[in-house]
Order: sequence, then C-alpha cells, then structure tokens
Amino acid sequence: MNFNNVTFERSFGISSQLPPSTLPEVAFAGRSNVGKSSMLNALFGRKSLAKVSQKPGKTSTINFFATEGARFVDLPGYGYARVAKSEKGRWAELIEGYFNQDRNFALVVSLVDIRHEAQQLDLNMINFLMEAGLPFAVVLTKADKLSRNQQNKQVSVLRRQLALPEDVPMLVTSSEKREGFDALRKLITQ
Ligand code: GDP
Repeated sequence: MNFNNVTFERSFGISSQLPPSTLPEVAFAGRSNVGKSSMLNALFGRKSLAKVSQKPGKTSTINFFATEGARFVDLPGYGYARVAKSEKGRWAELIEGYFNQDRNFALVVSLVDIRHEAQQLDLNMINFLMEAGLPFAVVLTKADKLSRNQQNKQVSVLRRQLALPEDVPMLVTSSEKREGFDALRKLITQ
C-alpha cells in the first residue's frame, strides 16, 4: 500500500452524507488531543494533510482520505470537555452513524495516550469495538514523553485495564520521533 500517495477526499458533518463504502476502510478514533492528526500526517509522510489542532474541540466531521485500494477514515475526536451538548450529539451521530452502516471495515485504529490510564470514553470505544466484533488495534501515542521502561509498563497496564484479547495488537508510537510507524504500516497493509 502506498502511504505516500494519499489524498484528501471530503469531510462529512452528518453520517447520512457518507458515500457508499467502495474500498476497504481503515478508521482512526481517539480522544480529542490524543495526537490523531499528527499520527495521520506522520503515517502519510505529509506535514498537514490532517490538521493538527491549534484548539481542541473544533467542529466534528468525518474526513475521508484515499489511496489506491484503501480509504482512511478520520473519525471526530471525542471527549473534549468544553464543547457544547449539541456538538457532543453531533459526535455521537457521526460515530454511531458510521459504524451502523454496512461498510467494509478493514481495521479500526483506536488511539490512546500512553501516559495515562484509559479514560471512560476510551473504554466505551474499545468495548464497543469488541462487542461489535470489528477488527481493531490499539495504538498508543506520544511515547516520546515516557522512558522505554515506562512505555513497557504502560503497555501491560493498559492491556490489562482494557481487557484486550491477546490477538488484538497494541502498538507504541511517537509521531514526534516518527517511531512505531513501520509496525503500524505493516499492520494496516495486512
Ligand atoms: P488530535 O486532536 O488527536 O488530532 O491531536 P493533534 O495531532 O492535534 O495533537 C495534539 C497535541 O499533541 C499537539 O500539541 C501535538 O503537537 C501533540 N502531539 C501529537 N503527537 C505527539 C507525539 O508523538 N509526541 C508529543 N510529544 N506530542 C505530540
């Protein structure tokens, strides 16, 4: 798969606008500020294909990116405390609407900050993915903020906390240091 030839397709503000699923989709989900935009830019080798938020809690949209043979789906970040209720409703509509459609879900990449315990909304997301039987991986972000020892410790702590089955991959990444991306590309390609 060519990660360096990814183009932005469109943003959608309501799930009924989403076009039919014509390609296998790799979706990215995570809390607002978890580092999702930075990860997408690092993954695609681009500086600002996905906007790195200056200000978290910007309007929720689902953003589609495409390369030959696959589509990347940037889901709206969840859990920013200071957004209006209406905005939280929009978020739920988009995420639930996306997953309720009959789509070609190849992989859901669930991003979690490596420094902290998983938060309630991370648990909700991951429990939903397990219950729905969707193929997913947990990708820990901002690893450069911890020592190698602390990283390893957090991997076990979070695996246990999230009660991840053994076959669910958990990767450690740093967009800042460009670490963990070979493993992530390999996982997505598979
Ligand atoms: P998003 O809201 O999930 O899209 O998160 P962003 O990509 O906008 O990143 C949120 C903040 O975390 C920004 O200040 C980024 O510079 C920072 N950040 C993202 N990835 C990393 C990383 O790998 N290491 C460090 N140290 N900071 C990061």
